[in-house]
Amino acid sequence: FNVPVPTNEPIYSYAPGTKERALLKNALAEARSKQIDIPMYIGNAEVTTNKKVAIRPPHDHQHILGYFNYGDKSHVEKAIEAALAAKKDWENLAWEHRAAIFLKAADLVAGKYRYELNAATMLGQSKNAFQAEIDAACELIDFLRFNVSYMEEIYKQQPPVSPRGVWNRLEQRPLEGFIFALTPFNFTAIAGNLPTSCAMMGNVVVWKPADTQVYAANVLMKIFKEAGVPDGVINLIYADGPEVGEVVFNHPDFAGIHFTGSTPVFQHIWKTIGTNIHKYKSYPRIVGETGGKDFILVHASADYKAAATGIVRGAFEYQGQKCSAASRAYIPKSLWPQMKEMMLADIATFKMGPTEDFANFVNAVIDEKSFKKLAKYLDQAKNDADAEIICGGNYDQSKGYFIEPTIIVASQPKYTTMCEELFGPVLTIYVYDDKDFEKTLKLVDETSIYALTGAIFAQDRYAIEQASVALRNAAGNFYINDKCTGAVVGQQPFGGARGSGTNDKAGSMINLLRWVSPRTIKESF
Ligand code: GLU
Repeated sequence: FNVPVPTNEPIYSYAPGTKERALLKNALAEARSKQIDIPMYIGNAEVTTNKKVAIRPPHDHQHILGYFNYGDKSHVEKAIEAALAAKKDWENLAWEHRAAIFLKAADLVAGKYRYELNAATMLGQSKNAFQAEIDAACELIDFLRFNVSYMEEIYKQQPPVSPRGVWNRLEQRPLEGFIFALTPFNFTAIAGNLPTSCAMMGNVVVWKPADTQVYAANVLMKIFKEAGVPDGVINLIYADGPEVGEVVFNHPDFAGIHFTGSTPVFQHIWKTIGTNIHKYKSYPRIVGETGGKDFILVHASADYKAAATGIVRGAFEYQGQKCSAASRAYIPKSLWPQMKEMMLADIATFKMGPTEDFANFVNAVIDEKSFKKLAKYLDQAKNDADAEIICGGNYDQSKGYFIEPTIIVASQPKYTTMCEELFGPVLTIYVYDDKDFEKTLKLVDETSIYALTGAIFAQDRYAIEQASVALRNAAGNFYINDKCTGAVVGQQPFGGARGSGTNDKAGSMINLLRWVSPRTIKESF
């Protein structure tokens, strides 16, 4: 018995005239034409409350897509109860059945729900069709299928040797208690991966998505249910973060957190868990992917055209709202004029506007809070002697939260936007003297408070080697002659250390191993 060997899901192009494009357009029109009422999913119940929160596309904030039902502490308590009630049957179910459920979920995403989930991601999170497809379809399908194959490997692995008269075994037990999954707005695939990767290892889950991602999370939950995830195994709730935290982190059965989100929130959670540590049965698993301030470093030997394209794609795809986005670049003086020209020409071709027009490459940022934060940085750069805005810099929230793709050239390598995480379509560039490559390596490492992704463009093998060594701890995903975004499940396990998280590599066996607590059994004959 073996689970199917996974391969990466092929990406649909949605090119004009294709059947896929027509189907996606239909799904968008259908989603727009109705106003849905999204319940919480607790045990076998679909729970509504009288606190309804409107869901609006970030690119069209006057339109209402529907409402979700906001819960309170009592719903969090009920979700934990439902999870614990479902635990025994779920963990006793042979892993092959759990595998079958999540493989079926992958097939549902790949087939029946592909357009609905992509449309929800495009409308709810303002992703263009291509960004939605690589996220909500391909990456999610890959997470599910590859994780099932890692799960099989974990259950089949029996590392201990057994001398005559003895049988040594390793039993991969689920964690004792429930797991809390806290998911971000920026990837539907991450929202799908965080609860399912722990659930497939036999755990029960309370899942709270970002408020700005509930629209797609609801479709995910429908898929999980239809795939056969039993009631109570994954419970989906929406409520105020600190209120949820108060219940979850005070609960004796809290067994772990699977988190993607901001560094300050994760640090706060870590401290809370630390304060409450004596209340728990076991030391909880704390797995988090947090911020990023990812770099692209160009060496004078680089293919400057490839570097210019890589920087622009890495910085502006999905409006820079990826933890992996290229938000600072270091370019040698000798390549700067031609790279600048190429980047500006590339950006000039970007069309900005709502996601429903497939010609638009740049869409809105996620919400007003993010819009205001970015606008403030742009205003500051406009007035700063250390900064020059060479393209973009404008913003407009009359219809949606639109920020123009912006490049700031900083005269100081530690200028604010070279160091702080902005999470938007703003790239800062520092131009260095060619002879200062080694100094620049030091600088990049020193300023990498976060250490998620990074890239070097160079043809000179010594420069590549030097950068790999000097920047060993500056990125958990390091790219040579490629942009620093777009890790593919099964190919580049994803995660970083320092301020970027616990580096438990999403989409790999390393991650799944965090959701089991092995028991060693020695039997003597
Ligand atoms: N895995 C994604 C990438 O490699 C980024 C995920 C994130 O933004 O958290 O681009």
